[in-house]
Amino acid sequence: MARRRPESAAARQRRIDAALRDVFHLTRLRPGQRLVIERVMAGRSTLAIMPTGAGKSLCYQLPAVLLPGRTVVVSPLIALMKDQCERLRQWGVQAVQINSGIDSDEANAALAALEDGSARVVMLTPEKLAEPGFAQSLARHATSLLVVDEAHCISQWGHDFRPAFLDIGAAARALGRPPVLALTATATDEVAQDIGQQLGIASGDIVHTGSYRPNLALEVELLATEEDKLARALQLVAARDGSGLVYTATVKAAQALYEALLAADEKVGLYHGKLPAAARREAQDAFMSGAHRVMVATNAFGLGIDKPDIRFVLHYQLPSGLEAYYQEAGRAGRDGQAALCTLLFLRSDKAVQQFFMAGRYPTDEDAVALYEALRDRPSDAGAGGWTLPLLQARLGRPRAKLQVALGLMRRRGIVQVDSQGLVTLRQGRMDAATLRQLMAAYRDKREQDRETLERMVFYAQTGQCRWRLLLEHLEGEAGIESCGHCDNCVRRRALQQQQSDAPDENAPHPPATRQPIFAPGDLVQVRRYGRGEVREATTLEITVAFADGTVRSFQPEFVARSRARGSRPAAIA
Ligand code: ADP
Ligand code: MG
Repeated sequence: MARRRPESAAARQRRIDAALRDVFHLTRLRPGQRLVIERVMAGRSTLAIMPTGAGKSLCYQLPAVLLPGRTVVVSPLIALMKDQCERLRQWGVQAVQINSGIDSDEANAALAALEDGSARVVMLTPEKLAEPGFAQSLARHATSLLVVDEAHCISQWGHDFRPAFLDIGAAARALGRPPVLALTATATDEVAQDIGQQLGIASGDIVHTGSYRPNLALEVELLATEEDKLARALQLVAARDGSGLVYTATVKAAQALYEALLAADEKVGLYHGKLPAAARREAQDAFMSGAHRVMVATNAFGLGIDKPDIRFVLHYQLPSGLEAYYQEAGRAGRDGQAALCTLLFLRSDKAVQQFFMAGRYPTDEDAVALYEALRDRPSDAGAGGWTLPLLQARLGRPRAKLQVALGLMRRRGIVQVDSQGLVTLRQGRMDAATLRQLMAAYRDKREQDRETLERMVFYAQTGQCRWRLLLEHLEGEAGIESCGHCDNCVRRRALQQQQSDAPDENAPHPPATRQPIFAPGDLVQVRRYGRGEVREATTLEITVAFADGTVRSFQPEFVARSRARGSRPAAIA
């Protein structure tokens, strides 16, 4: 059917609505989706920053059905590609996935569908796209749209940086520069700029639908010791209804917490990067299907996960920064129903992130060592020359750092990497000054990471609205004065209530420091005494009844709110 060009906006809208109804069986587009889809249909490159659960996938799935050429989707996540492909096929859209995780039958079928042009949607990893010649072979059929999902991974300044994303720009050129749709839930100005620059998206082509998720209640609890934190985590998980995700910063903490939850008879799974792929897949399936109520995971889990009914996300350790926190906590409540995001904050957890930070980027010494190894080409470089594993073995430095340094040198034309993965130095491109200049980027980045972590710590300690702080960080301005439902807003309101209920001229001003304010009937936790119920509370003294029948008074700073709703200690109930 020949269509007149250019298509009018009204005609385009009719086609979009028809596809929405007939192919996807949905009644309406969300406002952000409509804007993005109309732009994409008009052939305009777009960076869409939309919160988790906003429905970013539909922004390319729907155009994929309507556009004349095919849609190529780059995604960092093999595990999710399968689900996405299956869903597309259920809708009758010919979709194939190409990555290292598929068997040879599926790979052959996929390649055949690419060759004969029948594949409408091609989902692949950035590594696959970067393989020499692959983009060129894709280019034999017209690509109408190139999608970069989780696009923040392209930015070295983003918290999920993946070196392979750096090659997408080159692949886009090989594909004949189709319009690009970059999707992410988090991008600071700097990350957005970086994405735009690498993918050729102008700053005027950014659609930002706002990051505020009013159904997520944010709260932080300050803990004094590791033991307290573990006890509190177990208590919170037991007290909360529905499916939950518990994040740790380290594999070790994930393992320990997982075992503690197992011992407490919780239906729990474990996911971290050091587990074999099969175990990870199994844990993910069990959590997604609801067979496991709780998942304990490091940040290796969750990117792009579409489980709508996660009711709580508990952070057992401080994440690296507010963007990471927003991404991880944002996996709760994708169905729009209320969900709780709690950070357990132990001051010493900051050191865990500082430790990670030290290992994240190559240092000047790493780069010099790499350069010298490449220049010397000694006998242990193997018959063909240097590869990344050989360099790693020779230098005894972390692979990730070498990979990042190599990536940088490659983009600057200092080294070449051929299709066999052989790394060679290009002559005359390098001297000490160039190298130092190159590495300056990482020095800046380390400094930035320190600031990012400081902000995260500030979030944990602040007395102001937590959403406001988070939104100010993500968007530059919050757009809201206060959310009214984070722990600080609730606390502030309780204090105001208390002051207006009992005006007392002679009462001392409440101390300026953050202080829990309680009311009779509140469930609280007191160190060494355990949980109890508040009998009387003033700004200066809290009287608590404990399960063993004792009643004691404490200064407010020794009393913490217990969030274990509905499960009062037996003697109090
Ligand atoms: P994101 O990638 O933005 O985090 P997804 O694309 O995974 O979100 O979509 C989240 C959920 O919302 C999915 O289950 C999807 O089917 C659903 N969804 C998306 N758009 C709509 C819509 N217009 N109406 C109803 N449900 C939608
Ligand atoms: Mg997504």
